[in-house]
Parts: sequence; structure tokens; C-alpha cells
Amino acid sequence: MSAIVEPTCQIYEGWEEFYHGDTDDKKDCFLAEGKLFDIIFAQQFNRPFLDYICNLANQIRRMAKTKMGSQKLRSLLAHKRAMLYFVQPSTRTFLSFQNACHILGLKVSETRETSTSSEVKGESQEDTIRTFASYVNLIIVRHPEAGFAEKTAWVLNQTDRPVPVINGGSGPDQHPTQAMLDIYTLERSFKHIGGLDGKKIAMVGDLKRGRTVRSLSYLMKNYRDVTLYFVSPQIFRMKDDIKAFLNKHGIKFYESDDFRSIMPEADAIYMTRIQQEYADDPSGEIDAYPDFHFKKEHLGIIKPHCTIMHPLPRRYEIDVAVDKDPRAAYWRQERNGMWLRAALIAYIFGVEKEIGTEFL
Ligand code: ASP
Ligand code: ASP
Repeated sequence: MSAIVEPTCQIYEGWEEFYHGDTDDKKDCFLAEGKLFDIIFAQQFNRPFLDYICNLANQIRRMAKTKMGSQKLRSLLAHKRAMLYFVQPSTRTFLSFQNACHILGLKVSETRETSTSSEVKGESQEDTIRTFASYVNLIIVRHPEAGFAEKTAWVLNQTDRPVPVINGGSGPDQHPTQAMLDIYTLERSFKHIGGLDGKKIAMVGDLKRGRTVRSLSYLMKNYRDVTLYFVSPQIFRMKDDIKAFLNKHGIKFYESDDFRSIMPEADAIYMTRIQQEYADDPSGEIDAYPDFHFKKEHLGIIKPHCTIMHPLPRRYEIDVAVDKDPRAAYWRQERNGMWLRAALIAYIFGVEKEIGTEFL
């Protein structure tokens, strides 16, 4: 059923000014009692927090291995309910959040499209979200528009019943929980070689519209002496806002369109797909850039410890023949997402102590 009336777009006084304000000034709006309340953008996370969340994810996955441990985990948030509002396609983020909720006992409701909600009657998306807040204790939002999750959290935080909002992907802008699980995967992969500090990471593909590489770049500020290689076709180069951020924080980065020459240098190669859904005319775009694909023969020229990652879904960026190589981390990365998201939810509701850890 398509909309019978135009969606309502009311003006929220103060929103535009807030949205375009300085990121550092915005952070406070998403805190409660000195802790992160809403998870909106990657710049909210510092090193102690990232280390803490990775450690908590390890503890949860260890606990979940036993029947007693998993029963205990399920009892932690059995009195809470979550809403997954995913109005942009998703497989992994949706499933991993849903399963993360199940691990901790939260009951989950979902909306995956607007055609069955009152949005067809013209209800604004902000009112729709406010309605969820009347029923649940946590809202996880994926939306094609940059800034939508942020606006949701900003609106709710001015009501008398704010509930935490997690950004599960905001258009071509950010995907902060993906960036956290990428950090978790990198740290686990480099566990025996000193962790992520000092490593060289190549990000490859559509860096202009890929929100995962944008969020991950922001997080690099928390690690010492990391070098980034941005490898892309000319038209998909990393945008200036990220480059300005890296320059401001003294993070070394190089840009290249010669993927092969970068391969032997990298400790991790982060592949991404072309984000055609954001093109004005997707049919007018080339959808495959074979020079930016990772093929089986490349396994011979990368470092023995090089970690190959991909946020998925993949198209042709990585040959399936690469999947069997122990350095292919993307399926592990996908599973890591569920444990990491369970850790994040446990932290938000303050039940970490029950898992035997506490964030100071
Ligand atoms: N990694 C994306 C997600 O987690 C891919 C997908 O949409 O399937 O949702
Ligand atoms: N799954 C990731 C995302 O949702 C990457 C992608 O879709 O290409 O941004």
C-alpha cells in the first residue's frame, strides 16, 4: 500500500542549529548520568570505552557457551523490550541486533517498512518513533537519511520518556556499531601482534558513500600510530570532512587508486562494495571496478597476518575462493557483531556488573 497522503514534516525548532553544530558540543546531549545513553555517531567513543566494550563482548560470548551462563544472560533484561525500526534494507545489522536482544532476554518488536504503519496516513516519522517510545525501552533505527537517528534521539531526549536510541546505519553518513564491531574484529585479529596500535589499514572501494569506512576512520583517533590507505576509483574518494578530521588528529593517511601496490603494505584490508543505492541514477553507474577486487591470486602477496574484512553484503569485491583462507575474517566479523551489540546493550542498561565487569 502506498502513502495516501504526503508524509507530515513539521519543523522542530532548534533542530537544524543543533544538527549543524560542532560534534564535540553535541556529545553531551546523548549522555545520561555521565554514560552514553544514545549511540549515534562514532565520535562518541573513546579508547577506554572501546577497550571496555570489546572485553565485555568477550565475556558475554564466553558465558553464552554454557547452559547456565546463557540462562543467566537471558535473565538480565527479560523485563525490557526493544523496537527495531529498520526502514532501509538490512540483513546482518537487523539479525545481529535481534539476536543480541535475545541473548540478553529482551523482547523485540520490528518495523521493516512503513507501508503497514500510520505513516501511510501521513503520520510523521518523528511521531512514529515517539509512539514506539511509549511501548519499549530501546529503539534501534536504520534509515536511509543521514541524521534521522540523531534527530530521533534529540526529539526523545526532550520528552518526559526518553528511551535510548541506537543508530543502526544512517544513510551514507555513519554506522557506528559496525565501526565498533570492526574494531573488535581488528583487535581480535591482532591479539598476538600488539593489537591495533601501529597497524596499517587499507580501506578499499566506494569510500565516498560507504558509511562503514567513514565511521571506522573516525575511530582511528583512539589508536596510536595507525596509518590508513584510502584505495578507490577517483570518483569514490574519501570525502573532505573525514580527511580534515584525520589531519586535525594527526592520523596518517594516503590516497591511491593502485590497489595492488598497497596490498603488501597492509596489516588489514577492508573491502567495500559500490553503494549504488545512493546514486541519482543507479542504472547509469558502473557497478564493478575489477581493479578494486580482491582475488585469490592476491593471497600470495599480502602479509602472512593480513586480515581481510568486509562489512558485507559482498558482490564481486572478494572472490569466494578467498573465503577458505584463514586470513579471511568477514564471516567472523559478522558473528562478532552480535556479541559486540549484546555488550553494547548490556552497557546501556547497566547490567555489566552481573556479567562480572563494570565500566568506570
Ligand atoms: N552489513 C549490512 C547490515 O549489517 C549488510 C546488510 O544490510 O545485509 O545490515
Ligand atoms: N552493510 C554495510 C552497511 O549497511 C555495508 C554495505 O551495505 O555495503 O553500510
